[in-house]
Amino acid sequence: MKEDIQVFDNVLQLIGKTPLIHLNRITETFEGDYYAKVEAFNPGHSTKDRIALYIIEEAERKGILKPGDTIIETTSGNTGFSIAMVSIIKGYECILAVSSKSSPDKIDMLKTMGAKVYVCPAHVSADDPRSYYMVAKRLHEETKGSVYINQYFNELNTDAHYKSTGPEIWAQTEGKITHLIACSGTGGTISGTARFLKEKNPSLKVIGIDAFGSVLKKYHETREFDTAEIYPYRIEGLGKNLIPTATDFDVIDKFIKVTDEESAHTTRELAKTEGLFVGYTSGAAMQGVKQLQELGEFDSNSQVVIIFPDHGSRYMSKVFNDKWMAEQGFFDSEHQEESLGIEF
Ligand code: PMP
Repeated sequence: MKEDIQVFDNVLQLIGKTPLIHLNRITETFEGDYYAKVEAFNPGHSTKDRIALYIIEEAERKGILKPGDTIIETTSGNTGFSIAMVSIIKGYECILAVSSKSSPDKIDMLKTMGAKVYVCPAHVSADDPRSYYMVAKRLHEETKGSVYINQYFNELNTDAHYKSTGPEIWAQTEGKITHLIACSGTGGTISGTARFLKEKNPSLKVIGIDAFGSVLKKYHETREFDTAEIYPYRIEGLGKNLIPTATDFDVIDKFIKVTDEESAHTTRELAKTEGLFVGYTSGAAMQGVKQLQELGEFDSNSQVVIIFPDHGSRYMSKVFNDKWMAEQGFFDSEHQEESLGIEF
């Protein structure tokens, strides 16, 4: 049970210092120990609180941001929520260009937090004027006194994790971590965390989780940007159709790809087996661990840390919605009994 009952000046003081939670049942037959770094315990319910606070405070420190200024970003939802939350406390305007792939819940949440939201088509190339990158860039140029966070191409994104997530995991595992498993979107989480941990222990293994339909794994292996790898997929926040400079491919040992369907079922399984109500990419990361285990990646000495990026409440209209699951064809004969709707 928790011992500290503290009082805080505002929500921002609760960012970071998230718990590492031992996985007991989903990993029962695996060799080694498995811990989830549950980022849903941040006040904005995701790992993106860390980068929002860090990048905004760095801009303040450098005198780039003044009271009343506007903060602009492209986001699949989580970064936007975190920036909106930090903006409210610190008194900034927040404008967000988001992908139409984002769940309606996420878009409503951003509006609730006072952000101005532009919804942009998901399946256009990054350099298309309608893409959320190009819309954000244009809004930044048109809005006086604005700062563009640009998380995919901002090294401060990576630094935020180097300075917080990495040291926390090192302390929480007392330096015993052998494997770090994390999803890669901007790559900030995996790169910053891995960079810190590998400085402490160069033999640490770092494995990124990528989506089918994303270029990251192929780029890591060949250093070639292969557009043939790109096609639509459902998981939000994982994988990419461009190469983000926030990703340090040199600190990542390898990538593994996971499917939308298996990741969805593993997300639901985490809730049912561990009581961890976490987001779709947490299930994707856990799915990656299952595949790695089958490939013989771990042994009895393995101390595996898996980053769970956000909270399950953001996916009530998707992964945790039976109708959505059925529409995707995810309740095939193998998974029919998992439908939540069988008890009429
Ligand atoms: N999971 C979710 C739900 C996310 O929103 C993101 C960010 N795009 C990630 C994982 C990946 O984190 P990062 O951008 O630090 O690679």
